[in-house]
Amino acid sequence: MSTISISSLSQRIQRMEESATLKMAQLARDLRAQGHEVISLSIGEPDFDTPQHIKDAAKKALDDGYTKYTPVPGLPELRKAICNKFKRDNQLDFDLDQIVVSNGAKQSIANIFLSLLDKGDEVIVLAPFWVSYSEIIKLAEGTPVIIKSSIEEDYKVSAQKIENAITDKTKAILFSSPCNPTGSVYSKEELNAIADVVAKHENLYIVSDEIYEYINFTDQHFSIGSIDKVKDRTVTVNGFSKGFAMTGWRLGYMGAPKWIAKACTKVQGQFTSGATAFGQKAGAFALNSDLTPTHEMRKAFLKRRDMVIDLLKEIPGMKVNKPLGAFYIFPDISDFFGKTDGQTTIHTASDFCEYLLHQAHVAVVTGTAFGADNCFRISYAASEEELREAVRRMKESLAKLR
Ligand code: PMP
Ligand code: GLU
Repeated sequence: MSTISISSLSQRIQRMEESATLKMAQLARDLRAQGHEVISLSIGEPDFDTPQHIKDAAKKALDDGYTKYTPVPGLPELRKAICNKFKRDNQLDFDLDQIVVSNGAKQSIANIFLSLLDKGDEVIVLAPFWVSYSEIIKLAEGTPVIIKSSIEEDYKVSAQKIENAITDKTKAILFSSPCNPTGSVYSKEELNAIADVVAKHENLYIVSDEIYEYINFTDQHFSIGSIDKVKDRTVTVNGFSKGFAMTGWRLGYMGAPKWIAKACTKVQGQFTSGATAFGQKAGAFALNSDLTPTHEMRKAFLKRRDMVIDLLKEIPGMKVNKPLGAFYIFPDISDFFGKTDGQTTIHTASDFCEYLLHQAHVAVVTGTAFGADNCFRISYAASEEELREAVRRMKESLAKLR
């Protein structure tokens, strides 16, 4: 594209970063198309297929005529299933009109911030954070206020640090637990402490992204929205992509205070309307059916986590912790900064990832995109064989750095 046409784009879009996860996944595909044997541990996508009973439900829904527009916030049948799920799994009480189904949790988050923010409103984002949070907030003219945490803190931000960051412009706090990119899980006590801070400030909202709920190795997922003092100020986001291996279906949802759900429905009504009709039918079926396939996937992820951690620990300079959920490992690689193989010098986490992509043909994502300049993210949602080979290649390439 010429410089003239780029400068004709809106400031809003020029300021926006491209999604680093999607960009790396595409780079890996491009290199593969050129004939390189790239192992992509870049995108956060279960390698499992959607369970058969969910696919069958979608096929049946198509045959039953679920081919039309649905109500903007979703089919009543799916919203009912979501209310039941929230009650069953999260001790959250929502009515049907507090649920909005969207084209992925990504759209749920965009709906929320387009509905809540005015220019200059601040959103406290607990870092490391998922790449799209900051860009969605900026798109809605808000200001992301990033609070960092390190591997020594198990990548979790304390309630005290959150309290210190609150100003009269703070509108919301946003985080995911289990967390993308760190896999960290905030404990009930930590969430209670955060709720205590929020409760002290009127007009402060919590957006709790719980899309990795079913990939929680502690077996005790806890929803901050179930704490009485913040229940009317919490929006709980979830979706089908991770727990049901349904990334390509584009189906996510929120449970929110009525007025927020209503505003999100208005936004979505102008952007995309309701999510795909037959996908919603299958989503309802998924939530109402036995979760054994989901639990099996979680078991497989846990086994891979332990395997990858053990393999990574054999690489000198790689600092790893033990994530309690999701399917990511987020090593601190600051020990590699300043090292060189004689041709390439590693100054940043992005240099490190580029080096691995070109030298080892392993695609991973720089921590910089997640608000953590000393780290990189490995998605271990891949086969054990691929994971072993990827870490072997990484070890070999990194050994060349002095
Ligand atoms: N939140 C987090 C933390 C994620 O990792 C993802 C994955 N892309 C999403 C939200 C969005 O998921 P989806 O749009 O596929 O439902
Ligand atoms: N959430 C996944 C990831 O972090 C999917 C890609 C994306 O939408 O960012 O890789």
